Amino acid sequence: MTMEDHIRAILEEIDPHSDQMDKTPGRVSAFCKDFFSGYGTDPNHIAGAFYDSEMNDLIILKDIAFESVCEHHLAPIIGTASVGYVPNGKIIIGASKLARIVDCFAHRLQLQERMTIGIGRAVDSILQAKGVGVYVEAEHFCISNRGVKKRGARFVTRYFSGVLQGSLRQEFLATVLSR
Ligand SMILES: [Zn+2]
Repeated sequence: MTMEDHIRAILEEIDPHSDQMDKTPGRVSAFCKDFFSGYGTDPNHIAGAFYDSEMNDLIILKDIAFESVCEHHLAPIIGTASVGYVPNGKIIIGASKLARIVDCFAHRLQLQERMTIGIGRAVDSILQAKGVGVYVEAEHFCISNRGVKKRGARFVTRYFSGVLQGSLRQEFLATVLSR
């Protein structure tokens, strides 16, 4: 059975009498293939520029908006990720590449904890940076709209490596959390 057939079967369970959804399985199937493009992307080989730079202080791209889907309920996760690193004094990457790394993970079925670690490790391995920090804050529809139904509650996960595990952690967080 194709993905389309499976979606048709699910829709027939939900609404056996609808005659308005003939094209829905095809649309949902196309949407899924498009949205879950993260599986076809290797975070270590994401397009984007590298630049030579002696920069050796914290670089942060904050509030990168993302949308994902939780692997437990297939419910939306909507949030922001902030990604920072201290370069090794030789190489930096274009800021858009940090956003693409976030998208690569967001466009997979996710656990926010795994996504946070995945982003951090990808930046670590691409840049061989002195340290990496990731801060993810997101609303999970499986918490806000089902079960305990706590609308507005936001889930926070963090990743720190290298020098970001030490004194720079507070500087990173202060920058990320300042409005
Ligand atoms: Zn969930």
